[in-house]
Amino acid sequence: MQPFEYVRATDPAAGVAAAAALAGSRYLAGGTNLVDLMKEEVERPPRVVDITRLPLRQVQRTRGGLSLGALLTNTETANHPLVRENYPLLSQAIVAGASGQLRNMATNGGNLLQRTRCNYFYDLATPCNKRQPGSGCAARDGRNRIHAVLGWSEACVATYPGDMANALYALDAAVRVRTPAGAERLIPVTELHRLPGDTPQRDTTLEPGELILGIELPVAAAAFARHAHYLKVRDRASYAFAMVSVAAALELDGQRIRQARVVLGSVAHKPWRSAVAEAALVGQSVGEAAFRQAGQLALQDARPLAHNGYKVELGRRAVERALMRAARLA
Ligand SMILES: Cc1cc2nc3c(=O)[nH]c(=O)nc-3n(C[C@H](O)[C@H](O)[C@H](O)COP(=O)(O)OP(=O)(O)OC[C@H]3O[C@@H](n4cnc5c(N)ncnc54)[C@H](O)[C@@H]3O)c2cc1C
Repeated sequence: MQPFEYVRATDPAAGVAAAAALAGSRYLAGGTNLVDLMKEEVERPPRVVDITRLPLRQVQRTRGGLSLGALLTNTETANHPLVRENYPLLSQAIVAGASGQLRNMATNGGNLLQRTRCNYFYDLATPCNKRQPGSGCAARDGRNRIHAVLGWSEACVATYPGDMANALYALDAAVRVRTPAGAERLIPVTELHRLPGDTPQRDTTLEPGELILGIELPVAAAAFARHAHYLKVRDRASYAFAMVSVAAALELDGQRIRQARVVLGSVAHKPWRSAVAEAALVGQSVGEAAFRQAGQLALQDARPLAHNGYKVELGRRAVERALMRAARLA
């Protein structure tokens, strides 16, 4: 591990000032991703700003819905009665991830910003545009079984591997951020992560030094509480990242679909919300025919690589299955 300066933030303003003052600084929350990356020297921040003592652990009802602190652990979030009752999709997605021990350490802010699991990103002996811009992409023609089938570029075929974010995309959540100028801004979570384009080193739209304060869940998304399902397909039954995952949610009027959400995980550089599948479901009756069509539409733009063609059919079927379970038909 490279030497680095350690700063403990005493309040959000001081934390943001410390991080913004030195390029490449990183915030330390649960440390379950950052510390691994630093040990492997994939990340070499000159300064680490410890935010673990900041008062960002609230679960608060707001007029607009529910506010979750950035430093609330994944376990605390998934188990909270207000989350379980109103946003069960979020609880399901969180508990599908990692292990109990990791979820006890991992925070909501850190989970959103976890980095890709592309093997070449971790392997300093190989080129990787995300780790070292301009060096090339070893995964493009390498072992790319776990990589993207949607939205990738010649510069990067890595995926965003997390589970929690997929549910947040389906629930129209927003991320509250403090900027180095001392302002707060709300970012729709669907605009937090980026597609790689020519700058895959940037995972998100956050500016240097910006600190996530919390996650805002809109009250309207509670309409999906009765018919939602998170489906995660993986090599092992637990403690493994998804090959493909689906966050599916429906608001029903009898057997008719009033609103739908379809988000695929581990198929692109960001959670992949399929507007076309969602639009096609509106007004239809629940059932295999509608759900199969949604799966076809969600993957219609897929461009598989040499070793991940399986993700296309898996994705289609996972969408259909997740919607069937959300509708309580399977
Ligand atoms: C073996 C293993 C298996 C795993 N399996 C899964 C899985 O199946 N599904 C899944 O979703 N995840 C999985 N994970 C990832 C795990 O969920 C993440 O490591 C964890 O959520 C990161 O949270 P953290 O608080 O520890 O973040 P940290 O490691 O502290 O930080 C991660 C990044 O976020 C930044 N950051 C943290 N908080 C803030 C903030 N408030 N504002 C701005 N920046 C911030 C940090 O600077 C850093 O860049 C796994 C991890 C491991 C080690």
